[in-house]
Amino acid sequence: MTFKRDKGILCVENINFLKIAKIFGTPCYVYSKKKLIKYFNYYKSQLSLINHPNLICYALKANSNIAIINILSKIGSGFDIVSIGELEKVLTAGGDPKKIVYSGVAKKKQEIKRALKVGIKCFNVESFQEMDRLNLIAIKLKNKANISIRINPNVDAKTHPYISTGLKTNKFGIAIDKAEEAYIYAKSLKNIKILGIDFHIGSQILKINPFLEALDNIILLIKKLYKKKIKLNILDLGGGLGINYKKIKLYKYLIKKYFSTICEIIFANIHNIEIILEPGRSILANTGVLLTKIEIIKKINFKNFAIVDAGMNDFIRPAFYNAWHNIKVVDLNKVKYYKNLFYDIVGPICESSDFLGKKRYLNKLSQKDLLVIHSVGAYGFVMCSNYNTRKRPSEIIVDKNKIFLIREFDCLKSLWKQEYINRYVKNVNLF
Ligand SMILES: *Cc1c(COP(=O)(O)O)cnc(C)c1O
Repeated sequence: MTFKRDKGILCVENINFLKIAKIFGTPCYVYSKKKLIKYFNYYKSQLSLINHPNLICYALKANSNIAIINILSKIGSGFDIVSIGELEKVLTAGGDPKKIVYSGVAKKKQEIKRALKVGIKCFNVESFQEMDRLNLIAIKLKNKANISIRINPNVDAKTHPYISTGLKTNKFGIAIDKAEEAYIYAKSLKNIKILGIDFHIGSQILKINPFLEALDNIILLIKKLYKKKIKLNILDLGGGLGINYKKIKLYKYLIKKYFSTICEIIFANIHNIEIILEPGRSILANTGVLLTKIEIIKKINFKNFAIVDAGMNDFIRPAFYNAWHNIKVVDLNKVKYYKNLFYDIVGPICESSDFLGKKRYLNKLSQKDLLVIHSVGAYGFVMCSNYNTRKRPSEIIVDKNKIFLIREFDCLKSLWKQEYINRYVKNVNLF
């Protein structure tokens, strides 16, 4: 995300980050409504080129704040969910249940029941066992469960191993060589209705080839199934398109390339099918930043540490995936000496993996300076924890010259509200 400076101070829409920090404190997640709408609409415009009915089911796990859900649902987004918590959040935020697809390898009975009751669009089923479970619950509820089968196409997404999901060694989906069998089995189950096919091969994928390889395999499969009189209405291409954390400009380039290639293949091969996409990161990542204040500047053995008030509990991507995020000084007027130094930007947590950026060449920093960590709109706040008994930060969204608080800082006492010093549980037979 690129933010403009106004008189040397970084701004989001018409409001500068110094003001935001003063009102809401730090650390604080800051989103731009304008950018959120812009990125979603850009995606939608590209998807519309496909010339098939289509639906974007934004992958909620990237950022599930109810204000974000609300904005997206108002501009036509559907949602890809992975838990009952996400389902309830979408409903609370005014999302349309008929635009929900439900992914996940281990949906619990209660979760399935609730999703069936509210009438979601479809379950993306990931195993034979799940089909059985769904069928039984649907029979009990005198209902039918719409499904797409998530196929594991066995392709290497060439991304970080923790976010690669389309290899046959991963736990996700049904192996492509078992796919026919899976559809035939699904057809035999009375309360299951086959709607479509789905794949999702990983996240932060920056090459188009893995998507194409997967799509080719899936199209062959669709044709095979068609011959066996199994006709599909939905082709769900999953999410996973990456963003370039270093060069924002590549964003449009990658999306354009992705869509033009995909469109061509789909256009040439299949007709009368609804295309669903489940993007998360590629819509949300560049809509938000994390604002953090420097607490301590520490120099050891030729190394400079800027210790900030946001730790790995507030933003875990660097510690978890060794992710690189751009870091900038908010107020250049404060820079007294126009001299750059290398800094490790680290948090206050008792772990050496608690860093936000290493070896960053920045203007000489001082205590109390404000920094912004860029591109944290996806997999940012949602991965926060209370580790070190720390409050999770606040989230705000800026709409032109208005600021909306969309999540308060945790309240300190709430951190141990569910703990007991001495609560004896009667009638538990341990032996
Ligand atoms: C995580 C996930 C997505 C979104 O992935 P992004 O990389 O954020 O686009 C989509 N579909 C499924 C099934 C997922 O698990």
